[in-house]
Amino acid sequence: MERIQAPRGTSDVLPEDAERRLRLLRLCEETLGRAGYGPIETPAFEPTELFARGVGETTDIVEKEMFTFEDQGGRSLSLRPEGTAPVCRAYVEHGMHKLPQPVKLWYWGPFFRYEAPQAGRYRQFTQLGIEAIGSDDPSLDAESILLLSELLERAGARGVRVRLSSLGQPETRRAYSDELREHLRAREDQLSDDVRARLDRNPLRAFDSDHAGTRAALEDAPRLLDRLAPDDAEHFAEVRALLDAADQAYEVDGTLVRGLDYYTRTVFEFESSELGAQSALGGGGRYDGLVEQLGGPPTPGVGWAAGIERILLAADVPPAAQARAAFVVRADGGSTALAFSVARELRRHGVRAEMEQAGRSLKGQLKHADRLGADFVVIVGEGDLQVKDMESGEQRPVSSTADVIDLVAGSSG
Ligand code: AMP
Repeated sequence: MERIQAPRGTSDVLPEDAERRLRLLRLCEETLGRAGYGPIETPAFEPTELFARGVGETTDIVEKEMFTFEDQGGRSLSLRPEGTAPVCRAYVEHGMHKLPQPVKLWYWGPFFRYEAPQAGRYRQFTQLGIEAIGSDDPSLDAESILLLSELLERAGARGVRVRLSSLGQPETRRAYSDELREHLRAREDQLSDDVRARLDRNPLRAFDSDHAGTRAALEDAPRLLDRLAPDDAEHFAEVRALLDAADQAYEVDGTLVRGLDYYTRTVFEFESSELGAQSALGGGGRYDGLVEQLGGPPTPGVGWAAGIERILLAADVPPAAQARAAFVVRADGGSTALAFSVARELRRHGVRAEMEQAGRSLKGQLKHADRLGADFVVIVGEGDLQVKDMESGEQRPVSSTADVIDLVAGSSG
């Protein structure tokens, strides 16, 4: 029979990698929990309308990258391509504006985008994200940046660089878009087809292009950062002052535009020089209009999302402390029931314990124990029990399961 393979752009996570991911997950939970962020989970699919309205109709994500389908009832649903709109939907749906503000949340889970797969870019990937909803205080912008920075540092990510900018208010951005459009129109013959096609609807996306002509046309273009309204400029200055006070390195980059429409004021992106073309580890910013856009009360918010697979490509996540390990083998005439119960008792006492389950000879079992990295081997014989310390090689008889526990679990602390 022909073999069935995982879909393009997806991959299985085998135990060794899955363990690294779990270590990273624990690190996230600890780092974010300390800062007052609580975990939230939202569904893997949502009404398509949520992303059309939240992320923006003319964004790449909504235009080209969503896995959209109709359910049996004729409703249009989409696998979630990002997490901020779903979390804001949940905030509105559960009346979280009545809780003490800001509401601080974090999530971790699978996301889906129909993109051309390459190193660091998949059709199913895992994002970790945080959202702080209900306050426009600049300390939240700075805090969220510092948290991603701390996480990446604890995870051991190498070559991390932070780019920071402000997009101001939608009105400012609209006026600036007109100005930029004019500028680019005057240089239309230099632009890529893609940028030219989008000039009417979304000229800012020209900044995401790596087309040489487009880049040249942008060189002397006006910058949105120079057009910010006074209170937005002041908000941005406060965010920077807090980052400076915390010794957080960053680069102000007026060409940074994020590919989602909901951003206002602060935007940022974390990159790693360890990665190739797909160098973004994570990014985010403030979205003061999004909750209202989704039918909630006017509510500011700020957050980011980071790609777990990319973090793992750029980081050596520190190993977790290993529990003591034991392997229970059965010599000729040894009782299976006793071996089974010794293994179970050892686990109840915090030891990683397995027993022989593949019909190996005694020699084969001992070899397997070695392969598993067992610290101890418990040998269940006919009417006798022995414990072998694999490090010292010392082997001694014991009289009961309780003695095995004493010897093996007792030395685990
Ligand atoms: P974005 O909101 O698009 O900036 O995504 C946030 C982060 O998610 C990015 O910085 C990447 O680390 C990760 N990410 C986004 N799209 C993909 C993808 N197709 N494959 C793997 N990681 C991704």
